[in-house]
Amino acid sequence: MQDPPRYQGLRKRLTEQLRSKGISNPLVLHAIGTVPRHLFVDTALREHAYEDKALPLMADQTISQPYTVAFQTELLDIHPGLKVLEIGTGSGYQTAILCAMGAEVYSVELERALYERAKSILNALGYYPQLRWGDGRFGWPTYAPFDRILLTAGTEEVPEPLFQQLKEGGILVAPVGASSYQTMMRYQKVGDKVSAEKKGHFRFVPLRKWELS
Ligand code: SAH
Repeated sequence: MQDPPRYQGLRKRLTEQLRSKGISNPLVLHAIGTVPRHLFVDTALREHAYEDKALPLMADQTISQPYTVAFQTELLDIHPGLKVLEIGTGSGYQTAILCAMGAEVYSVELERALYERAKSILNALGYYPQLRWGDGRFGWPTYAPFDRILLTAGTEEVPEPLFQQLKEGGILVAPVGASSYQTMMRYQKVGDKVSAEKKGHFRFVPLRKWELS
């Protein structure tokens, strides 16, 4: 797939910007510097792929801002070999970042067209996460438990099955809130308890219910 030197340069500049905004995990910065985001955005928006901005996707969804992707990934404390469940594949960009960091990735997407699109881009780049078209509010019981769980859509509360599918000691990161903006929450499962930390405000598209039409 095409990755012209100009885009490689812009990507390097983006990693510097993220570093200056407080992202410090070298694995995260390396992944942002490696994954060709321009292939995940709409073709008409390619020139904007390396600006630190959210961009529109088909079906009224958005590809998260690079800072948000980096921030969530940093909170997850990803190491090679960890089993990670992502809810909301969207463009597949965040999925690719997790794959580039060596995680074993499982990702669920509600919109069929987005699921298909993400799958073909990821595979063309040589990433083979397990992808599923379905309602991520139920997690993915077949492959549970997971070391890490990431929600990339905002929700009033984290669906209970997701906590159930988190390993002991595992971390779950989710934007939680009822309104148009959410608080980034980092949960950790310790014994039969779950600790919670607040990590600032963000804006996400809502986690939706599967509706038969
Ligand atoms: N991680 C994505 C962000 C996409 S925005 C990226 O990097 O591009 C959030 C995504 O969550 C949207 O694609 C939306 O369709 C999806 N989504 C919303 N509700 C969902 C649900 N219940 N199950 C799975 N995916 C859902």
